[in-house]
Amino acid sequence: MDAVVIGAGPNGLTAAAALARRGWKVVVLEATDRPGGAAWSVESTLPGYVHDVGAAFFPFAHDSLAFRDLDLAGAGLEWRNAPHESCHPGIDGTSATISRDAEVSARSFGADGPAWHRLATWMKAMGPRLSEALLSPLPGIGPALRLGPINLARLAWAGLGSTATFSRQHFRTAAARRVIPALALHVDLGPDDAAGAGLGLVLGLLASSSGFCIPVGGARAITDALLRRITEAGGEVRLNQRADRIVVENGKPVRVSTTTGEDYPVRRAVLADVGPAALYARLLRNVPGMGGTPRQARRFRYGWGTFKMDWALSGPVPWTAPDARQSAVVHAGDSIADMRRFTRQVRAGRLPANPYLVIGQQSLVDSSRAPEGGQTLWAYSRVPSHLPDGWASQREFFADVVEQRIEGLAPGFRSLIRARYVAAPPDLEAMNANLVGGDLGGGSARLAQQLFLRPFFPWFGYSTPIRGVYLCSASTHPGAGVHGACGFNAAMRAIAEAR
Ligand SMILES: Cc1cc2nc3c(=O)[nH]c(=O)nc-3n(C[C@H](O)[C@H](O)[C@H](O)COP(=O)(O)OP(=O)(O)OC[C@H]3O[C@@H](n4cnc5c(N)ncnc54)[C@H](O)[C@@H]3O)c2cc1C
Repeated sequence: MDAVVIGAGPNGLTAAAALARRGWKVVVLEATDRPGGAAWSVESTLPGYVHDVGAAFFPFAHDSLAFRDLDLAGAGLEWRNAPHESCHPGIDGTSATISRDAEVSARSFGADGPAWHRLATWMKAMGPRLSEALLSPLPGIGPALRLGPINLARLAWAGLGSTATFSRQHFRTAAARRVIPALALHVDLGPDDAAGAGLGLVLGLLASSSGFCIPVGGARAITDALLRRITEAGGEVRLNQRADRIVVENGKPVRVSTTTGEDYPVRRAVLADVGPAALYARLLRNVPGMGGTPRQARRFRYGWGTFKMDWALSGPVPWTAPDARQSAVVHAGDSIADMRRFTRQVRAGRLPANPYLVIGQQSLVDSSRAPEGGQTLWAYSRVPSHLPDGWASQREFFADVVEQRIEGLAPGFRSLIRARYVAAPPDLEAMNANLVGGDLGGGSARLAQQLFLRPFFPWFGYSTPIRGVYLCSASTHPGAGVHGACGFNAAMRAIAEAR
């Protein structure tokens, strides 16, 4: 094999597809009995109700250079958008909503409509250049120059600050002020964290342009399209093959062995879609020439845990806020103060009393997700990875708290529930070894682990001290999300170095 890819998550599969289409012979080894990592869908509640196990909304669906290179639409992937992208209702009855139509958003932002309109217009002017700059490998001078110095300066200025400061500076109403902090809380960035505004703003801008796209058939449709691209180019994916060791001879990888005793010879490269500790301290254990990287990898920090739920419903959620009834994603985070409290509680290792939630309504626009008359609902909160007495005794209790939280914004919700599925942090990690402590982001998104510091300096460019071994998971730049950029950029690096 020219390349062995370890891990069949979206980054591993993107790397494999990109290499296979450029003539490399590629095999992907996947530890579990299915491909896709956190981009997969199952009937977790009742037959006929299709739920995404992890990723569910895809702001980079159209602008990812990797997905464009692979022409995933040509491989059968179909995207849909809801009438609204992200609704932010409060328990006080107010709401602000991001739509792809700037006029519609501006109306929903009320007194802050002109402020939102200015942001959406700015995004329109940047267009796909923003995604290109975000997803390119570092230092990314070309994409940065194409974005332009004024846009760069504006993004950096806004991006380095906290979401609380950004919101107070730009908006006057409580409803508008809860939008950007709620978007940054997708990862472990609370309202007062430095650089939180960067992520919150970028997600808001992407929601206003491409939107939070929904794949027809579920997140597994993305995986299916990637698999199609791999197999049609002669590559293969082997399931139930957990990589155990990368064997290095004369400073080069020569084979990958699995826990079941199989060996996969390597001619050119190994690309690892795993966490930094899994690569540097486990797969490459006892390899000479690694310097301090195993120690650096062990110091890599993961973000908070994730508490994920699916519901099979007998009808649409009766949100009090009318926009929420037509929104792909609904965010529950009442105010900056509420999200600040939430952040404090999670950081202190306590269950949040009033959980912040990201709630997805995929079946609103994709009827293949639920039987006639039914609806699906998907949600997650961020929680401590570990609890003093363990998660087992708290799972169902906290699931009730989450349902109570939604009921507060949508009275009558609970009466629609036909079945629910609950995954606490240990359940997520058992499903996928990359979700360490239930962190959905492949590592903390705080400033100390961004850009040139992801996963750690100076190994931010996918390479490792072993020539021909690359790290290509979400633990590398540009981080979390299904955009394939980590895998694609690593594959391009491998090709360049092989030359
Ligand atoms: C609950 C949840 C919600 C999310 N929501 C969104 C969202 O809405 N939008 C979005 O864009 N992103 C979302 N994400 C994040 C997104 O799913 C991840 O950032 C993305 O899947 C990372 O891709 P990856 O290929 O790096 O790793 P993963 O998807 O984690 O896949 C890694 C794969 O490697 C395999 N593996 C690990 N170790 C080995 C080994 N030793 N040998 C062989 N195989 C191995 C694993 O089994 C797994 O299949 C969410 C994630 C979760 C968990």
